[in-house]
Amino acid sequence: MTGTVYLVGSGPGDPDLLTVKARRLIETADVVLHDKLPGPEILESIPAAKREDVGKRAGGEWTPQEYTNRRLVELANEDQTVVRLKGGDPFVFGRGGEEAEHLAEHGVPFEYVPGVTSAIAGPGVAGIPVTHREHASSVSFVTGHEDPTKDESAIDWAALATTGGTLVVLMGVGKLPLYIDELTSAGMALETPVALIERATWPDQRVAVGTLETIVDVRDEAGIEPPAITVIGDVAATRARVVDFLRNGADPGVWKK
Ligand code: SAH
Repeated sequence: MTGTVYLVGSGPGDPDLLTVKARRLIETADVVLHDKLPGPEILESIPAAKREDVGKRAGGEWTPQEYTNRRLVELANEDQTVVRLKGGDPFVFGRGGEEAEHLAEHGVPFEYVPGVTSAIAGPGVAGIPVTHREHASSVSFVTGHEDPTKDESAIDWAALATTGGTLVVLMGVGKLPLYIDELTSAGMALETPVALIERATWPDQRVAVGTLETIVDVRDEAGIEPPAITVIGDVAATRARVVDFLRNGADPGVWKK
């Protein structure tokens, strides 16, 4: 007998944004393999006895992906029902694709359970729609994790600078100065609005806003740290027009520059 692995998205962190299906699967699973991204509130709601942390280990290293892959197959082969819980949506920069392929290769049945991705919900809770009829007809989701100055970078920032649409960068706090530089060098206007949304929907969510020209200083002054979303484009200015009536997030925490 082989157990089923559920690749489950937790949403951005607010337990109310777990899907009904995710909640049900977490409750009925034998084991929940997770990292830190689902956030403290969701993780604390899962009984410690069935949680396995495959995120950062003591010493600051990450659990290798090979270990997680192997563990999923091992548990399934013990006929356990496994929830692999991931922040946001499992298939958006979540390695869900790699895990699905690994499970299929090893004959383990799995199910994908979509989650609310921070790539859309993060901007949204800051009052920023990723598309808007008057401001953006396309949106690109990009990882900011790669060093854009390296030759092997798979991301064409110069091309992204010219889409006219919204850019949403995940994992983009540390290398912010590098890709902002790439975008401005490619001719993107310095006054283009930019927002950073830190720990979106967590109890201590923060938002900082600026422009392509100021956002690195804004990040430093506000002390923005991962996990955070960077939104670049005219839609980011929507926040200023709605923020007085926006009730998402306890602390408006705006740094304007
Ligand atoms: N699968 C996830 C993304 C995983 S990549 C999703 O769909 O949301 C990890 C990155 O996601 C972080 O570096 C950050 O950029 C973003 N992220 C995830 N949760 C977040 C949150 N609550 N607030 C802000 N950014 C978040």
